[in-house]
Amino acid sequence: MKDYYDVVVVGAGPAGSITAKTAAEKGLSVLLIEKRQEIGDPVRCAEGVSKVWLRKHINPESRWICADVKGSRIFSPDGTMIEMAEEVAGGEVGYVLERKLFDRVLAYESAKAGAQVFVKTRATGLIIEDDFVKGVRLMHWGQEYDVRCKIVIGADGIESKVGRWAGIDTSLKPVNIETCAQFLMSGTGIDQDYCYFYLGNEMAPSGYVWIFPKGGGLANVGIGILGSKSGKKTAFEYLNDFVADKYPDARILEVDVGGVPVSGSIERTTANGLMLVGDAARQSDPITGGGIINAMEAGRIAGEVACNAISEDDVSVERLNEYEEKWRSTIGLEIDNSLVVKNVFINFTDKELDGLAHSLQDVNFSSMSLLDLLYALFKANKKLLWDLRGLFRNVVKNELDFDH
Ligand SMILES: Cc1cc2nc3c(=O)[nH]c(=O)nc-3n(C[C@H](O)[C@H](O)[C@H](O)COP(=O)(O)OP(=O)(O)OC[C@H]3O[C@@H](n4cnc5c(N)ncnc54)[C@H](O)[C@@H]3O)c2cc1C
Repeated sequence: MKDYYDVVVVGAGPAGSITAKTAAEKGLSVLLIEKRQEIGDPVRCAEGVSKVWLRKHINPESRWICADVKGSRIFSPDGTMIEMAEEVAGGEVGYVLERKLFDRVLAYESAKAGAQVFVKTRATGLIIEDDFVKGVRLMHWGQEYDVRCKIVIGADGIESKVGRWAGIDTSLKPVNIETCAQFLMSGTGIDQDYCYFYLGNEMAPSGYVWIFPKGGGLANVGIGILGSKSGKKTAFEYLNDFVADKYPDARILEVDVGGVPVSGSIERTTANGLMLVGDAARQSDPITGGGIINAMEAGRIAGEVACNAISEDDVSVERLNEYEEKWRSTIGLEIDNSLVVKNVFINFTDKELDGLAHSLQDVNFSSMSLLDLLYALFKANKKLLWDLRGLFRNVVKNELDFDH
């Protein structure tokens, strides 16, 4: 390990690896550190991603894709099923990944581009001088190091400390965290071509149960519930109840627990000499909890902006504002829209959820834009039109901008 780099990236998840790769491809000297001894393990993810968006970053390889999904089946509390083809639902789930391999491949890509990668290396603090972040304090195999650099990237996930060390408020209230539990199971007997979602406040308060196929008869069966609504039962207990009821004979091969930020955009993701990316910047989707693609998108933007800023010898927060502007005007818009939906969704009763499902039952989803979907929903549910008026305005504006 050298004692000086252009960029130090803390955390080798999708956000960190894509940032490191992008910056290294542009000729910067880059250090990527990961506190765990194995990148990608343990997994805290249901591993679903959009095909279209994934392909913008990496060519899919069969060794880290477990399932190529045809569509989604969504069940309302009374069991009404809505089926969506992948092209419509696939904004979120098209492939189910093997993240233990996928995350490793992304880190390897960054190494191939020239980044140095160190595992079992934890950031323990920042070097801050004259109000500028100037480097990172590390613990590597029990030894402390100071590594200086021009820009630090905080890609340290939901548990991020890097932002806080730099004075950025990344704190999350319970209402802004989806607490999750997941089993990797055999013997559920699900159709491996579909992802399944179950809604209902009894089963998953202000959240949902998912079942994603993992190939070979396996499936990720998980639950996310809003931290503020979990009451006396934990996500793990809710999941146990669901599985005991639905799949009493299936077997649990792995247990994962974790949290997803669903706060929507935070006020600031940059400081002098520092950018936050991915879950560390709270860039996951507030309604689905999906964060892999946003993390990769933000990582690419941050890597590019790091290069621009360093080449101009200006890493001030004003110069790094290019990153804020770029991510907020792309993935940030989606995050804002999802936050509007989330704030309405978390207050739905089971009766209202059933009502929505009933109103969508005869809709042909195979040729439907988001605008068509909203129109069908609003036609049958006038109150929803009022609740989601902010979203409706955004979508109409975006579609009109796109048309022109
Ligand atoms: C149960 C569950 C299911 C999910 N399902 C999906 C899904 O189906 N689809 C989807 O898109 N998203 C899903 N998500 C969200 C998704 O996992 C995250 O949004 C995504 O991993 C964010 O990537 P990241 O690189 O920002 O952070 P992470 O993947 O969390 O990576 C951060 C890395 O930083 C490391 N790190 C932390 N602190 C330090 C430190 N001090 N020093 C060095 N390294 C450090 C961590 O060990 C970790 O490897 C799910 C999340 C959960 C919990």
